[in-house]
Parts: sequence; C-alpha cells; structure tokens
Amino acid sequence: MTEPLIYELSVSGRCGVSLPEVDVPQTDLPAGMIRGDLPLPEVGEVDLMRHYTRLSQMNHGVDIGFYPLGSCTMKYNPKVNEETARLPGFVRTHPYQHHCTVQGNLELMYGLQEQLKALSGFDAVSLQPAAGAHGEFAGILIMRAYHESKGDEKRVKILIPDSGHGTNPASATMSGYQMVELRSDTRGNVDLSDLRAHCDETVVGLMLTNPNTLGLFEEHLQEICDLVHACGGLMYGDGANFNALMGIAKPAELGFDVMHFNLHKTFSTPHGGGGPGSGPVGVVESLARFLPGPIVEREEARTCECEAEGMSAFCYHLVMPEASIGRMKSFYGNFSVMIKAYTYIRMLGAAGLREASEMAVLNANYLQTKLKGVYPLPYDRICMHEFVLEGRLPAAPEVHALDISKRLMDYGYHPPTNYFPLIVPEALMIEPTETESRQTLDSFIEAMLAIAREAVESPELLHEAPRSTPITRVDEVRAARQLKLRRET
Ligand SMILES: *Cc1c(COP(=O)(O)O)cnc(C)c1O
Repeated sequence: MTEPLIYELSVSGRCGVSLPEVDVPQTDLPAGMIRGDLPLPEVGEVDLMRHYTRLSQMNHGVDIGFYPLGSCTMKYNPKVNEETARLPGFVRTHPYQHHCTVQGNLELMYGLQEQLKALSGFDAVSLQPAAGAHGEFAGILIMRAYHESKGDEKRVKILIPDSGHGTNPASATMSGYQMVELRSDTRGNVDLSDLRAHCDETVVGLMLTNPNTLGLFEEHLQEICDLVHACGGLMYGDGANFNALMGIAKPAELGFDVMHFNLHKTFSTPHGGGGPGSGPVGVVESLARFLPGPIVEREEARTCECEAEGMSAFCYHLVMPEASIGRMKSFYGNFSVMIKAYTYIRMLGAAGLREASEMAVLNANYLQTKLKGVYPLPYDRICMHEFVLEGRLPAAPEVHALDISKRLMDYGYHPPTNYFPLIVPEALMIEPTETESRQTLDSFIEAMLAIAREAVESPELLHEAPRSTPITRVDEVRAARQLKLRRET
C-alpha cells in the first residue's frame, strides 16, 4: 500500500491546531516579513502526525538495526543518557547564569574532565570543542601556541599518514600549515623511512590515529614518537578510535602530547546526521596553559565565594588557562552531550569501560575472521575495534564495494564505510561495536556471505540494489551535480 503524500491530503482551510481566542490587540506584520502564500499542505493533526511518524521510519538508525559504519562507532546509545540529559536541573539552566547558581552543571563538567584525564593519562582536558574535527583544530592551535611560545617560528609542516581521516589534512590546512602525507608500509603501519625523510626542524607535529583507520595498532608507535620528539615536533592523537583502548592503554603514556576525544563516538551519544557532538582535547602538562577555555576548576568550599544550600565540600568555577588559545565555542561547549557521556562513563565504571573496549575488539575480530576467506583482507593482522575488507571479489570483477553496500540495505543493514581509508581499493570498513549480540553478528555474516554468492551468480541483484528501501538506487553523480530540492508539481 502506498501512503498518500501529505500534499495530496491537503484541503484548503483545514487546520491541525486550535489556537485560543486572541486577547491582545492585533497588529499587522511588518511588510518585509510577509512572504506571500507558501504552498504548505493544510491537514489535520492526525495526518500531520502520521506524515512525520512515517518519515521517521524511513531512516535506518542504530535503534532499528545493525549499523557497522567504520570509524564512526555507531554503538547503541543507552536511553538512560537521555533521561539524565533531560533532568530539569540541567535543562532549566541558562548559560548566562552566575556560576554560583549552576554548581551542579560545573561539577558534572569537572567530573567529566577528570574521567577523561584518568582514561587517557593526560594532565588537563578542555571540553570546549564541539566535534572531533573541531578538537583537531584546537589541538593544532595549541601546538602552534607552544612553538610560538618558544620563539620557534620556522615550523610549517604537519605530517599525516595516508591512512588518516580527511579531517586531519583539513584541520592542518585550516590552521595555515602545509600537510605532508606519510606512506604506510605493507603491514599498515607508518613507513618509518618515509617519516625519517620528512622529520626535520620545520615539523609542527604528526597527527596519528591509533589504532589507525585500518583498525590496526601502530606497531612502531614508540619509535614514531621518539623520532617526532627528537626533531622538536609534537605528537597529535586523533582519538576517534579510542573505543579500542578504554581502560587498556592511555594515549599520554603511549607518547601522545595532545589528543581529541569524540564523546559522541566513544561515549555513546547519538550523532547521526552531523551532530550534536563534543570533541574535548587532552594535553600533557607542558601544553596545559594553552588549552581553550574556560575550563572548570575545583576549590575547597571554605574558600569559595558561592554560598548555597546543600553544597558539597567543594565549589567549582570557570577559568581561562593563562596562555589560552581562546574560546572554541560559545558558553560551555555542547553541554547536553557532556551529560550523556558522563552518564555513560558513570554507568559502566572503570571495569565496564574496559570490558566495552574488549568486546568491541572481540566482535571486530570475530567478523574479520569469518569474512576474510571470502572478501580479500589486504592487511591480515589481528584487528582492534574495526577492520577494512576489499569490496571486490576475484570471481565477480563487475561488482564494486558500493554495490555490496547497497545490497546490504536490502538485508536490513546499514552499509559499512565505503572507499575509506583511501589506501585500500574498494574499501569496506566495518566496525561492529561492543553493543551487538552474537546473533546479530552471525546474521550479518550470513548476509555478507549470501551477497558474495549473489555477486557471482546474479550480479544484477547487486547492481540494482537497494530494492526494498523507500528510495531505491539514486544516481549519486547526477544528484550532486543537479540537486533538486523542490518537489515536482
Ligand atoms: C569521526 C572521525 C574524525 C572527526 O570527528 P567528527 O566528530 O566527525 O568531527 C576524525 N578522525 C577519525 C579517525 C574519525 O573517525
């Protein structure tokens, strides 16, 4: 049954809301604010409700099905996060309130800073940046401030491995630096000879994702950090893949100087459709004074200027680090995301977070092991929380990674990440996350194996996929070049 479009239900004069009688004097809108007759559908409340509910069901989401989008960590977001984020004490505060009246909010932010420090080993954390890429930008500005503070102005290069995420070169370039790409070796690590060739007194720093976007732990991490530090550069950690490390390894102890966290990935806050996110940055002691601010500090209640009933032994206030690069975001940053991430951390506790990382790694290795005999696995090593297959089968040369991904939608799964990282041809990057059950993983394996058979026996099924979704295969090139945002009438 095809549902009627809301425009087809429209009847002139029908209205979906009832407003109370006007009891104030009426005036006309200023002329510039009147846009004439907008062709909006006129429908009753029930039809409007059905329209939006129907639309909401056309989307795939992690609450509907498996979502193995590599690097993005689409884990299940526990609903208790939403409950705490909705507590009246949080939602009914205003960013302009005096800090003495929002001690609870500040206590939560302080607690989150402390938890991120404990998990990462860094000495200081700022919660300001609003996303991972924003955290990268902040991190590079911190590196610049550090070099400038030493009068070292000849540094212009940021080194980035060819497996790096697209935001890395973007952040480097936005900061006015030159980006230099480093090759990967045959095991998927940074090629040390290439690093040696580029490591000199013009290096600002190296941006490294560990585990990298192939899902592989960098085997020469110690040597890389030593080389970069020896030429006066800093080690930037892209922490998007922290989901593999929680409670197991601390980036500061591994040799990183500054790193961003993606609260929306690792710490389970919903992040489909571009936001909202939060990308705190952590730094070692020597960089703490450059952090973006304000950050939250704690003092003993007896020296505190705030007096409030029921206050704990401490009080909290906002401070700007002494040589801060400044603000990255208005007010406190994305506070509601912080509440959700804080809740997630407190619900799991230290042991639970470690277990989450262990399960994420176990699940990824389970899938990798079951699929690698059928789909080529270019870097055949034990993986961390994700892995990258080639979506190209020797027996089905006409089938591409994109076709496999589209066909997965017919089986009810969100496709993996396609064509990234760039160093794997026809890349299919799969991250199952720790929240999926054995049954779900097994069904996904079944689907992937069935698709591999279809690719050989009836490739048209893949080329025409998806057939079962509200929108079938679109011409992506034409859609990008001749974008049509209006409905044909
Ligand atoms: C997601 C991601 C980023 C960017 O983070 P956003 O929060 O999307 O801005 C950077 N690096 C890697 C490896 C990522 O997966």
